[in-house]
Amino acid sequence: MNLREVAFTTKTRTVRRPAGAFYQDLLRNERLSPDELADLQWRRAQDILDLALRETAFYPRHYADLGLTPGTRLTREDWSRLPILDRATVKENAADMATPAANDRTSRPALTGGSTGEPLRTRHDARVPTLAHSWRMYRWWGVEPWDDLARIGRWGFGRFATLKNDLSWWPTRQRYTDAGLLSPESMRQFHRDVVRIRPALIEGYVGSMLEFADFMEAEGLRVDPPTAVATTAAPLTSSTRSRLEEVFGAPVYDEYRGAEIGWMAGECRMQDGLHVFADTRLLEVVDADGNPLPPGETGDIVITDLTNRVFPLIRYRLGDHGTLMDGACACGISLPRMHQPDGRSTDLLRLPGGRSMGHRLMGMFGSHPEAVRLFQIHQQADYSIVVRVVEGDGADARTHIEQAVDNLRRRVGGAVPVTVEYVDALPYTRGKIKYVISDVAPAG
Ligand SMILES: [Zn+2]
Repeated sequence: MNLREVAFTTKTRTVRRPAGAFYQDLLRNERLSPDELADLQWRRAQDILDLALRETAFYPRHYADLGLTPGTRLTREDWSRLPILDRATVKENAADMATPAANDRTSRPALTGGSTGEPLRTRHDARVPTLAHSWRMYRWWGVEPWDDLARIGRWGFGRFATLKNDLSWWPTRQRYTDAGLLSPESMRQFHRDVVRIRPALIEGYVGSMLEFADFMEAEGLRVDPPTAVATTAAPLTSSTRSRLEEVFGAPVYDEYRGAEIGWMAGECRMQDGLHVFADTRLLEVVDADGNPLPPGETGDIVITDLTNRVFPLIRYRLGDHGTLMDGACACGISLPRMHQPDGRSTDLLRLPGGRSMGHRLMGMFGSHPEAVRLFQIHQQADYSIVVRVVEGDGADARTHIEQAVDNLRRRVGGAVPVTVEYVDALPYTRGKIKYVISDVAPAG
């Protein structure tokens, strides 16, 4: 055992004991037989439903027509009749969806614009050591949780948070660069970090990883191939995969996660579909009436988080399309698989001078989601940015919208004009509202 492994193992038996126990649980579950796994999932789904009926004001009301009471045991047939929860309903009823256990210590806000540009705030259960989901997935790629890694993602919490993260992971090294504002300087620094620590894993938002790959190529930079590269936040198309595999010299894997739920599925080393984390999420693909579809048929992805006991989300429509897969995977993991989901859009704006903004756009109205019903950020070919907003009914909606747009102006540092346009409806693109559109041609 190397020092990093010793440190990880020691910590997950002591100060990180809940995370260690959760991780062991996940490793056991991925080896259960399909029947045992289905039983475990079904038991957990019923428990969450029971909790929602007992401890929230919303769910008894939402399911009033079905005559459900706490303790009712459902058949799977009954389950498929539970009404689908859409974003608008969550937004209207958020105050009644939290359980009494939810407070500032047990929960943290999750902000999202989803893939539909409809701002929303839900709550994560902070007591669930959800990071262990990523550890499990990393092992599928030959990366251990104690291995060094480098990420282009959600960072920018300042020096103190960075120091705290460094200390808590020592001697494992984790290097971050903030996808919120990538610049030639930040990418050069990130490249130096990667060269120095030679991480086993490089992970990031698809759009930002492509920016970094283009930058390395333009500057004639190289890195030692890591064990794995992983992308999230938007579909990993086959052309993106081969582009990144060529630049990094390593296999590239797709992760499926969302702001409301966290990790939901990930590819294994076979790169043949994503294994759904069926022990902690119930992922269904449904038709327009909410009826579950069999493997091979494409429909709306609805998800039940089996671990969130502060803000239960049951049969929640994510806004993505998906297709379940049949059959066992050659890798030996029994978690069921889905094809790569479709519907998440790349969240990337480019600024003059080689800078780009790869996240936090979808959360731009996060502090006042009620002020906005729908929004869309449209970058024109001349780099100028138009924020289109369908105003919500919240008090002082206009003021909150103007403040959020002002924040965006500050983020771009006056590099390009940012204007706001109030509209009654947003244009659909291929049957879906896209919340970030860029007409700026990629560099190179
Ligand atoms: Zn597999």
